[in-house]
Amino acid sequence: MTQRLEGKKALITGAGSGIGGAIAELFAREGADLALLDMDAEAVVRLSQDLHAQTGRRCLPLHADVTDAARINACFAETVDTLGRIDILINCAGVNVFRDPLTLEAAEWDRCFDVNLRGAWHCISAALPSMLANGYGHVVNIASVHGHKIIPGSFPYPVAKHGLIGLTRSLGIEYASRGIRVNSISPGLIMTPAAERWLASCPDPEAERQRQADLLPGKRIGEPSEVAYTALFLASDEARFINATDILIDGGRSQLYHA
Ligand code: NAD
Repeated sequence: MTQRLEGKKALITGAGSGIGGAIAELFAREGADLALLDMDAEAVVRLSQDLHAQTGRRCLPLHADVTDAARINACFAETVDTLGRIDILINCAGVNVFRDPLTLEAAEWDRCFDVNLRGAWHCISAALPSMLANGYGHVVNIASVHGHKIIPGSFPYPVAKHGLIGLTRSLGIEYASRGIRVNSISPGLIMTPAAERWLASCPDPEAERQRQADLLPGKRIGEPSEVAYTALFLASDEARFINATDILIDGGRSQLYHA
């Protein structure tokens, strides 16, 4: 294994499952010390213990909801106390909110934006003091193809993901001259527990799984590790001139006009 993040300190939100968990695993193997934040406390404690045992890296589990700004500030302060600084922030915590626009309740709208957009801002603003003090930092926001293209029946999730890409561009420009890069990744369908839950809610989950695979140019659904490798590149110094932009990772599906 290479050590592309040797000596780096990374905080990953949504680390308890799916894409965030895959990023945590890859970053630990690549030499980073980690703070793993999730609202699922058991999941991040278990993952921290496993990754420490497997790689010897320091792994700090953090139990928090990204919508709670005060708790997020406390978790980031604890990370700086424990690991010394924050070099890399991966904003991966997110929720699917797919509703009919006319029956969408205000609380669902709020939850969608609080987790998928405001939560990322809470974490970036909590990481900035450490990054600015060191003149060094890489932020990677996990957006979505929903931030580029519209899939009927998925409102208002795409609105929040468009906002997250806007946040990426805006802050990438704002802090570029002070050594901080902000980029995002837009995955297509990736087989994670969230995707499995969505498939299970379909009338015929196996038929829907096959339909989704058939829609993709490569005829297969993406894997969490494939997003993790993109995050590794963006979070490393190899990507030092990439800033305020977004990388689509969807097997080319979003370029199709007709399937
Ligand atoms: P997942 O549900 O498997 O994992 C998400 C994790 O985030 C969970 O551990 C959950 O506990 C945590 N989380 C959710 N809300 C939180 C909150 N308020 N505070 C703290 N932690 C919270 O989901 P996933 O499929 O791995 O998705 C991860 C990210 O990737 C999300 O931002 C999602 O929008 C995005 N994404 C996923 C796909 C896909 O097909 N799986 C595609 C595009 C984008």
